[in-house]
Amino acid sequence: MKLLSVIFPAYNEEKMIVRAAQEVGKVLESARISYELVFVDDGSKDTTWKQIEETAEADPHITGVHFSRNFGKEAAMFAGLASAKGDCCVVMDCDLQHPPETLVEMYRLWEQGYEVVEGVKRTRGKESALHRASAGMFYKIISRAVGIDMSRASDFKLMDRRAVDALLEMPERNAFFRALSSWVGFRSVSVEFDVQERTEGQSKWSTWSLIKYAVTNIVAFSSAPMQFVTFAGVAVFLLGIVLGIQTLVKYFMGHAVEGFTTVILLILFIGSIIMISLGIIGYYISKIYEEVKGRPRYLISRKIDSRVDRLEG
Ligand code: UDP
Ligand code: MG
Repeated sequence: MKLLSVIFPAYNEEKMIVRAAQEVGKVLESARISYELVFVDDGSKDTTWKQIEETAEADPHITGVHFSRNFGKEAAMFAGLASAKGDCCVVMDCDLQHPPETLVEMYRLWEQGYEVVEGVKRTRGKESALHRASAGMFYKIISRAVGIDMSRASDFKLMDRRAVDALLEMPERNAFFRALSSWVGFRSVSVEFDVQERTEGQSKWSTWSLIKYAVTNIVAFSSAPMQFVTFAGVAVFLLGIVLGIQTLVKYFMGHAVEGFTTVILLILFIGSIIMISLGIIGYYISKIYEEVKGRPRYLISRKIDSRVDRLEG
């Protein structure tokens, strides 16, 4: 019997653990799919871990992983994949914004031989206009870097054991799950789903954390911002030639003292370009520094193993 692992990153989701376990369990059981549910508590400050422990006691399908502190959703997803025993794994949000019924559809496609099944958002659910616009820009940059249209991509996806192992073998710390799963290739297909509304609790993303997330992932996936430095350098050089000719012409015509305004403007302009360039290079260096230190992506402080293998025999 094949085993499906469903991974739920959970941060302050005390109200959703039991509901998610019940609803997903119900759907998978009626579809006769054997499964385990991997809850990764991303250092929650509420009773999420207690909920996971209690649910795991009653339900043998549940694996629980508890982080020593909040490491972020990306880390939680990777920890879940690393603890999953399934022949295929699905990552989904535990606020049930990803509909459990789609799981079955994904599983059937996997049975037909697809190794990566991408969940694609048909609609994006409720969002503010500003959020939508900045998400649009972010996805444009990322899509160019990966070479695949990512504007409707989500973290909701099924991966075959082979793809999961390929992902887990990657040594990088700043891994962007959504794009890496396309990057690994394999036989893939996509399934559309409608983003549901969150019923309990609230979104864990502030505007600031979204900006940080966007910048980190652009830098993790693309060196395009570095080209800005070269580009700006060439632009300033061309400007330099034009101004140089003008200055020389004025000198030979005998009124060279003018142009103090130009000097001030040039110093300001070139100065700011140099500083922006240094900032961009500095950001990449800080990311290299982080990778070189080789700290673990996350630290697990407690773990509960599911009892599925004993169940299925
Ligand atoms: N999440 C997490 N760690 C974090 C933030 C979020 O594990 O630091 C989880 C969260 O519990 C949820 C999923 O990631 O299961 C998606 O988060 P959320 O619903 O807040 O994001 P949104 O749906 O608003 O994009
Ligand atoms: Mg959500």
